[in-house]
Amino acid sequence: MPIYEYACQDCSKSFEYLVLGGKGPDTCPKCKSPRIKQQMSACGFHSKNSSGQTTSTSASASSCSGCSASSCAGCH
Ligand SMILES: [Zn+2]
Repeated sequence: MPIYEYACQDCSKSFEYLVLGGKGPDTCPKCKSPRIKQQMSACGFHSKNSSGQTTSTSASASSCSGCSASSCAGCH
């Protein structure tokens, strides 16, 4: 199933969303802001956290481009 990770631009909350019919979430589940941004993958997000880096660049996420499935178990 296509579960994607999103992050709210207003409250910085990150959340996973099961996309049905190619339609993502319209608003943040926490603050209801429409300014949400899809992350590259949950895998890139987790690896960024585990490495202790706080910078949010797309470079780290792009290395997980083959990890668009709902499971990131085989990514690394
Ligand atoms: Zn929010």
